[in-house]
Amino acid sequence: NGDGDMSRRAQSRSKSRTNSRNSSVGVKAQLDDFEFGEELGEGSYSTVYHAVYRPSGREYAIKVVEKALLIRKKKEQVVLAEKSTLIRLGSGHPGVVRLHWTFHDDWSYFFVLDLARNGEMKTRISRLGSLSLPCARHYAAQVVDAVAYIHARGVIHRDLKPENLLLDDDMRIKITDFGTGKILGQEDDRAGTFVGTAQYVSPELLHTNTTSKSSDIWAVGCIIFQMIAGRFPFHAPSEYLTFEKVKKLDYSFPDGFDEDAKDLVQRILVLDPIKRLGAGEAGSDHDMNALRQHPFFKSIDWQSIWVDPAPPME
Ligand code: ATP
Repeated sequence: NGDGDMSRRAQSRSKSRTNSRNSSVGVKAQLDDFEFGEELGEGSYSTVYHAVYRPSGREYAIKVVEKALLIRKKKEQVVLAEKSTLIRLGSGHPGVVRLHWTFHDDWSYFFVLDLARNGEMKTRISRLGSLSLPCARHYAAQVVDAVAYIHARGVIHRDLKPENLLLDDDMRIKITDFGTGKILGQEDDRAGTFVGTAQYVSPELLHTNTTSKSSDIWAVGCIIFQMIAGRFPFHAPSEYLTFEKVKKLDYSFPDGFDEDAKDLVQRILVLDPIKRLGAGEAGSDHDMNALRQHPFFKSIDWQSIWVDPAPPME
C-alpha cells in the first residue's frame, strides 16, 4: 500500500539531508515536520499526498517527485518550470495553488501546496453532464479573475483546462499544474516543442508555434463553452483532426446555449490572438476589464467572487 510505504519511507528519511524554502514568514519546514496521510492522486511523474504540518496542525497537499523517475522521464524542465512559476505567483491570489515550501532529500523533491480537497472541475462537469448557468458564470468569473492575476504577474499557464482547476474546501477554484508555465521575458527551453492539450490548444500555437497570454484566454473560452455545453467546442476522433477544427474555427453551439454566454465565447474564440476579448492592451475595448464587463458577467460582483458562497454545483 502506497501510503504505508510513504510513511515508512518518510520516517526513514527523516534523518537525511533536507532543504527547505519558505514562505512568507521565513519559517523553514522539513520532511519530518509533516505527517503523511492518504494519497490524493498520481501524475505521470509524481504522487500527491495529504499531509499535516505538525507545528500548526494545518493540512497541505505534498507533491512528491522521485528524482530518478524525473530523470528517466526527462521531466526536469517541467518541475523546474512548476517551481519557478509558483514562486513567482506567490501567495497573492486565492484562485492559484500556493507553494508553501519545497525541500528535497536524496531520493525526492517535495512541494508543499495548498490542499484542494474537492477534486478537479473536470470530474464535476463529467459527473453533472454540464453546469447550471449560475454555476458556470460563478466559476467562469473565478477563472477569469485568477488568470488575470497570473498574467499580471508575468506568467502564462499554457495548459488551462478543467483538470487543472482544483476545488478547495469552500468550493473555490485553484489553478494548478504550472509545469507548462512560462515566466514572460525569460528564456524558454521548450519553445517550439510545446504542445498543451489538443482540445484547448490555440490556433496560433498550431500555426506559428507561439503562445502568449492570449492563448490562455483562448483556453478560458473553451472552458466556459465546456462548462455550459458539457462538451468541448473542438473535438474530433484524433488530435490531428481536432487541430484542423481549431485552425478553421470549426465549432457550433448546442441548442439553447445562453445568448450572453454565446456572445462571450464568440468574442473569445477568435482566430487572431490580438483581437480576443480579454487579450487586448490595457485600456483598449477588448482588454481584461472589457472581458469582466461583458453582459454574461453582469450579475457578478468582482470584488466578492472569492467570498461569495458558490452556487450549488448543479
Ligand atoms: P501530470 O503530471 O501527468 O500532468 P497531474 O498534473 O494530474 O498529472 P499532479 O500534479 O502530480 O499530476 O497531481 C496528481 C493528482 O493529485 C491530481 O490529479 C489531483 O487529483 C491531485 N492533486 C494535485 N494537487 C493537489 C492539491 N493541491 N490538492 C489536492 N489534490 C491535488
